[in-house]
Amino acid sequence: MHELGITQSIVDAVLDAVEEPTIKCVHLEVGRLSGVVPDAIRFCFELVADGTRLASARLDITEPAGRGECRSCGLEIDMEDLITRCACGSVDIAVLAGQELRIKTVEVG
Ligand SMILES: [Zn+2]
Repeated sequence: MHELGITQSIVDAVLDAVEEPTIKCVHLEVGRLSGVVPDAIRFCFELVADGTRLASARLDITEPAGRGECRSCGLEIDMEDLITRCACGSVDIAVLAGQELRIKTVEVG
């Protein structure tokens, strides 16, 4: 499960960046096209955060929707998947949003 490695990186990054003794909330953005499962991150977070300053932190995950722009006709389309076909028939789509995987904010107490 690669979410465990990702979650470990997130927890390490937060602990590195934040010096306050208590961290209340970590807000993540996990795009729908990122290939990462938010529920798996939540599950792993409890394991990885246990015994650290993040142990009592709340994990808040938003999931930006996938958006793309067709390179053939310029139409902007919703993307449920990385392989999406435009109405014009092209599958050459530039991904505009949905691949985010980042720490947005950290609230300290
Ligand atoms: Zn198109």
